[in-house]
Amino acid sequence: MAKKVLFAASEVYPFAKTGGLADVAYALPRALDCDVEVIMPLYSCVNREKYLITQEKTFEISMGGNTYPIEMFGCTHEGMNYRFVYSPILCDPEFLYGTSCADYGNNAIRFGLFCHTIVTVLKDENYDVVHLNDWQCGLVALLVHDDPQIATKTLFTIHNLAYQGTFNASAMSELGIHGDHFTMEGIEFYDQMSFMKAGISYCDALTTVSPTYAREILTPEFGCGLDGFLHQHRSKLQGIINGIDSNHFSPVSDTALVASYHDAKGKKASKSDALKTLGLKGATKPLFVFVGRFVAQKGMDMLIEALPKIAAMECNVALLGEGEEGYHEALSDLSARYPTIHLTFGYDEALSHRIYAAGDFLLMPSLFEPCGLNQMIAFAYGAVPVVHRVGGLADTVKKIENFDAESTDGFGVVFNTPTARSLLAAIKKACTLYAEKKQYETIVNHNMKGDFSWAKSAKAYSAIYERVSNG
Ligand code: ADP
Repeated sequence: MAKKVLFAASEVYPFAKTGGLADVAYALPRALDCDVEVIMPLYSCVNREKYLITQEKTFEISMGGNTYPIEMFGCTHEGMNYRFVYSPILCDPEFLYGTSCADYGNNAIRFGLFCHTIVTVLKDENYDVVHLNDWQCGLVALLVHDDPQIATKTLFTIHNLAYQGTFNASAMSELGIHGDHFTMEGIEFYDQMSFMKAGISYCDALTTVSPTYAREILTPEFGCGLDGFLHQHRSKLQGIINGIDSNHFSPVSDTALVASYHDAKGKKASKSDALKTLGLKGATKPLFVFVGRFVAQKGMDMLIEALPKIAAMECNVALLGEGEEGYHEALSDLSARYPTIHLTFGYDEALSHRIYAAGDFLLMPSLFEPCGLNQMIAFAYGAVPVVHRVGGLADTVKKIENFDAESTDGFGVVFNTPTARSLLAAIKKACTLYAEKKQYETIVNHNMKGDFSWAKSAKAYSAIYERVSNG
């Protein structure tokens, strides 16, 4: 019989999104062959009217001696059942996690309350498995472990180990967590408490979002201080590659585009539209695009160092993103200085689709990348990825030097060392490829036909649900 699964995430497209987790929380539940419900906070940015989100019940939660009002909401969207947790402290702030300068100071309480509410839902209803995503849900694993009344099994997925939810140890009492858990084997992390460790330590099964990242996080270079701890839990760790929703990311049906297309030649209209909108000149020059968060992880330092030299090449660059103030300033300076570099600051889903469609190449020089979705979106829209060979990028982007028309892999320009020099060499290689029109179009057409959907990985998750709930 299909397993009953509660899929918990702090962001879910189309309700609230800051990055790839929201895409995963949208697409994976639909690809599963299970009875799934998705649960997330009902932030103030979620459009209740548009998605017909209605109240289901209200109750109170006591946590660490305080009582918090909870309102549960729900809706069905595109055939999927969504449940929302509303409480003023969790949902009323303007942003999900904080401003561009700092995270909110009460995030331990905010997401602790989210976790306690999920546990209340598990107590009231019989779920076989709760699938917990990232640190914001980590405490659920500990609370379920501590409660003999709950039979639900826990799967914890690490989407990015760099964000761990570590807080002052004093938060433990406010969260109603017993002091016994404050050990190295439990949730203590350098005298602080860690939501991420709670998830890793107490879950029944542990996954991360690509096989290479699953290996990398066991090393000091990528382990963010948790490599030793992860080694202890290695037997339950598995790397499963993310996919993309092939209906949502499809240039054939994407309403954000000026013209739909299904091959390299069809991209022309999107490219000229974007160049015009962004004020860039030269439709015959390759257009390199970047879509993402302006943070060190995404290789911003490397890119900023390389950009003046890229600007001297026969190409255009369009960047869309938001993130840290310092990077924004440096990029603003560069785009003011060079007419071939265009910067759009902000988060814009529709524009991002137009940029993927317009781009001849997608730049992804990430220092580390748990999985990365942009490169798969780029395959679908016919932009050839230029990537640092790390994490999920190493698993999903094969070197064009090894191009094999028979293979089902996607191909791109891959470089091994995360330096501005290597990035520039990769960009030169991309420009050379672009000049060989026929070869370039062959690769684009091959990538566009690839299957980067969730089909295979959803089966791997279903197998874990089966295993833990039968075990
Ligand atoms: P992350 O590390 O940010 O989660 P991923 O590659 O896993 O990176 O996923 C990023 C997702 O967010 C993709 O769907 C990408 O198109 C989208 N995205 C990132 N920044 C922006 C932006 N500024 N505007 C629109 N979409 C964005």
